[in-house]
Amino acid sequence: MKTEADFWACSQCRSINPIKSDRCYSCHAPRAVAAVRPTDMSMSSAPAPLAVTSSYRSSVPRAILVTVLTLLFIACTLTALWVAWTIGLLRAEGEREAADRLLQLRLPFFLVVPAVGAVTLLSYAAWISRVVDNLPALGAGYSRVGPTMAFIEPLLPLINVYSLAARAGEVIQKLGGGTHGLALVALAWLLVVPTFGVSAWILRFERYAGTVADFFRGAGLTLLVTFGIQSIGLVVGLWVIWHIESLCSARADGEPSR
Ligand SMILES: [Zn+2]
Repeated sequence: MKTEADFWACSQCRSINPIKSDRCYSCHAPRAVAAVRPTDMSMSSAPAPLAVTSSYRSSVPRAILVTVLTLLFIACTLTALWVAWTIGLLRAEGEREAADRLLQLRLPFFLVVPAVGAVTLLSYAAWISRVVDNLPALGAGYSRVGPTMAFIEPLLPLINVYSLAARAGEVIQKLGGGTHGLALVALAWLLVVPTFGVSAWILRFERYAGTVADFFRGAGLTLLVTFGIQSIGLVVGLWVIWHIESLCSARADGEPSR
């Protein structure tokens, strides 16, 4: 039989949680700061404000870093795809030697692109982790995840496809942002994620519909155009970051947010 010792009550929203839960299922307040014994809960008085354990530290420097790195990543990738396209055109013209020479010459640059991409993702993880860490100090409650998980989430392949958008949306809602912020998150996601599938589908079609020369001619252009669309999505993503920054600074300055 379960006893009172198997549960903790949330001082903020009066929800009863199993003792194993580290966070309130309802308001996500951590057990460490919000837990009271169920029998100690006051039914008449309003909940005492939570003791905020971490102080507010601006996330603006990290937002600037993400912005610079994302623009660098877009520029590097577009350049690399353009070079790859010219190499493909040489192959299509049957100039295999010239194509191979150009490929060898540009190979170091092609390796730079994934490295810049990885550093950009790391900077985003550091930024969203700081924003999640700041929520309680800004009086915006708690995220579903702690700052450490908020850092790890964006780096996990496939899981990040969901979590990047979900966490940004959650933060906007916690900070009291309107639907236009959420619409921007959805737009960025739609421009970046499904485009991978469209690109792969077109490449498949090009591979089987024409000659090998046609494929070399078309594939580079397809990748360039689809990444161009994804770049727009990434820029919308930067817009989301600065929207969140404006919500944070409005709260930090004590102005009521919209
Ligand atoms: Zn709660």
